[in-house]
Formats: sequence, structure tokens, C-alpha cells
Amino acid sequence: MKLQKPKGTADILPVESAKWQYLEEIARAVFKDYNYKEIRTPMFESYELFSRATGETSDIVTKEMYDFEDKGGRHIALRPEGTASAVRAYVENKLYAPEVLKPVKLWYNESMFRYERPQSGRLREFHQFGVECLGVKNAAIDVEIIAMADNYFRQLGISGISLHLNTLGDMSSRKAYREALIAYLTPFESELSEDSRRRLHENPLRVLDSKEPEDIKVVENAPSILDYLNEASQAYFEEVKTLLEALGVEYTVDSNMVRGLDYYNDTIFEFVVKLDGKELTVCGGGRYDGLVEYFDGPATPAFGFGLGIERLLLVAEAQEINFMEDETLDVYVAVMGNHANVEATKVVESLRAQAFQVERDFSNRKLPAQFKTADKLNAELIITLGDNEVQTGNVTVKNNKTRKEVKATLDEIYDSFSPIFEELYVEEEF
Ligand code: ATP
Ligand code: MG
Repeated sequence: MKLQKPKGTADILPVESAKWQYLEEIARAVFKDYNYKEIRTPMFESYELFSRATGETSDIVTKEMYDFEDKGGRHIALRPEGTASAVRAYVENKLYAPEVLKPVKLWYNESMFRYERPQSGRLREFHQFGVECLGVKNAAIDVEIIAMADNYFRQLGISGISLHLNTLGDMSSRKAYREALIAYLTPFESELSEDSRRRLHENPLRVLDSKEPEDIKVVENAPSILDYLNEASQAYFEEVKTLLEALGVEYTVDSNMVRGLDYYNDTIFEFVVKLDGKELTVCGGGRYDGLVEYFDGPATPAFGFGLGIERLLLVAEAQEINFMEDETLDVYVAVMGNHANVEATKVVESLRAQAFQVERDFSNRKLPAQFKTADKLNAELIITLGDNEVQTGNVTVKNNKTRKEVKATLDEIYDSFSPIFEELYVEEEF
């Protein structure tokens, strides 16, 4: 049997993984600047957590969930998104307690699972950076989080990502809009896709999120949520826009955007980029003030986003972002003959303990082949160890580029390699 990875999954091999590390490193630094702390939650949870959080009519629940019954008869699902888990953890660990500083600012970097049709930027196992901020309601939090994503793109040097902004208002605004939407859509019912005909009755806002061409045509002239906002919802949205403008973050209001999950209210947003002529959503999020209470916690306002790492990588690669791959090595130890194996083992371990990045030969190859490997690894220095060096305790350390050499004893190397390294390294700088 030929073993293959499951459809919609990917191996992230070296070179590629260096790019991931670069994206992760900068993300971590940005999250830190905004005082977010990492949370790690289980990869699987009870099915009900996600079905209740994202809504019974969402694509995630109706089509995309990886769920199964475990050996104990529990209905389990692989995590399709991060917010439900973060909220569950917030309630279960009582992060709402008064002694926990508010807002609670969390970030995560986790794989998500959705049974989708795999294509470019759409996998069955994919990865997200996410942030969730719980416990305080202030338009400045909405804007801080949007600005954080924007800042991250800028630090990566990615351009051309545009911010689409909308509001879903509060419950009463949404109720008024829902009625208007049903009134508008009902005459078109027969023209809608099968999914949307069902959604029309169960959750009409979902129709706006449809990707089916027949639905998109009908939705074009649908009433706008912006005309159904009550005063409070309107004022909140105005404040968000004012703060974005104060920071110089550009946006366009897209009143047909609803996002794929049911738990949002007020501000929602997406960062969208054109790739090969197609629109690609890299990051999306919004406010979800009802979810904590829905999971039996105290009423807790919250805001967050999810950012697809695979899609970000597609964009970064298309824009030829320099990933600063670290492909250098401090020292390569060339090893001649079996007798040198003990000493070589000790030398590389000692150098690594002294915080040098070191590789050696393990295959008893001829010296020229070993030197070629040192070149390939971009080694700064080479130490050659053979019977003679082991016997006398004297070795030559060579700069692989300038060819400058320094004589040293093994004891000196074990004791402190830094002076030798610096002598040869500085030489190369000038
Ligand atoms: P889409 O409309 O493209 O299906 P979504 O609304 O389902 O996206 P979210 O649930 O908001 O996506 O997830 C946040 C981000 O995660 C998306 O903006 C995207 O970058 C990424 N993402 C979502 N689904 C996938 C997937 N199947 N493969 C890769 N990345 C994904
Ligand atoms: Mg989706």
C-alpha cells in the first residue's frame, strides 16, 4: 500500500518551515507589543461546543465539521475555529473572576479542521493565528485589534491588503434588519440556491454570505443593515470609524459582509487581498458580546479575529517577501577516520553547549566531500579532526571564506571557543 497524507493536508518541509517560523516570530512580537498572551486549547472538543457557537446553519456545522464518536460514545469534533474554544476556556477556568485583570487578551496559533473542497488557500487542516479580547467593551478595543492585524501585515512588508468593515448592530437592530431581509428575499425564493432557500427561513443573514452565483445576484440589491441600525448601534459604528481614521487605517464599508459565524454583533471586518485576480480573505473577525453568556458565563463583551496562515503565506510568496532564511552555520567539524569519532562527538557537543551552531560529518567521507558539505551549509569555520589532531591535541580552525587559519588546542576549544571564533569572524567582516 502506498501511504499518502490525507486529502487537504500538507507537509511543511524545511525551507517552507523556515518561512512559517518567520511569520510566527513576527506575529509573536506584534502580539507581545499589544500585551496579548498565548492560550493553547485542545485540538478536539465536544461537538456541541462548535455547533452551538458557530450556529446550526453555518457552513462549518452543516458541511465542514470533522466529527466522530469516540470509544466512550462521546460526540467529538476536531476544532474548526478558535473562538469557541477560547470562550469555553474563559468560562471553564473562570477568567471572568474579578482578580483576573481585564480585558483578558489572548492569542493562539493552532491548526483548524474543516471538511472543505481542497484548493489553493483552502485546506482541510489549516492554521490560524487568532486573538480574543474579553471583558471590556470599548470601540478602542475593536480598533486596537484591527490595527494590530494591519500592523502585522505592514511589518511583514505585505501590501495591497484592504480592510472591509461592517456592523451587524445590536440584537434589536439585527431583528429589524432580519425582517426587512426576509421581506426582500422571499419574492426571489425560487431563484436562490437550495442552501439559501433553507437559510432564508432559518437564518436569512447567511444568504448574504453565500458564494453561489445565483445568490450573489439576488443579494446585490438587498437592503443594507446600515439602514436598520438603532441609535446606539449607529453611534458605536461611528466611533469605530472615527478611531480607525484617527490612526490612519484605511477601510471600506461593505454592508453585505456578514461573516460565516453566527455569534457576531456590531463591528465585523475582513482583510482581503487580490491574488491571481481573485479576492482572498486572509483575516476576519469581529465583536461577539453574547457568546460568553451563551456558554453560561457572566455577560462579557468580546472581540477577536482569525488569520489564515496558509493564505498569508500565499500572499507573502506572491509579493516576494524576503523571509530571512537562516541558512548559516558557525562551525563544521570535518572528521577523518573512526578514531576521531569520540573526540568529534565531544567537540561538537562542547561547541553547542557554548551556543555555537554546529554540524559534523557522520559518514567517514573523503575530506573534499566534507568540505563541499561545509560550503553547502554556509559554514563560517571548519575544524578538521583526524588521528593526528586527536593524538597531539592540536587543531587548525579555518575560516571557510577568507581561508584564514588559527592554531588552537582541543583544551582551548573546550574551555572557550569564543576568542577563536571572534578572531576569525572579525577578519571576515572587513
Ligand atoms: P471563507 O469564506 O474563505 O470560507 P471563512 O469565513 O470560512 O472563510 P473564517 O472562519 O473567518 O473563514 O476563518 C478565518 C480565516 O481562516 C479566513 O479568513 C482564512 O484566511 C482562513 N481559512 C478559513 N478556512 C480555511 C481553509 N479551509 N483553508 C485555509 N484557510 C482557511
Ligand atoms: Mg469557510
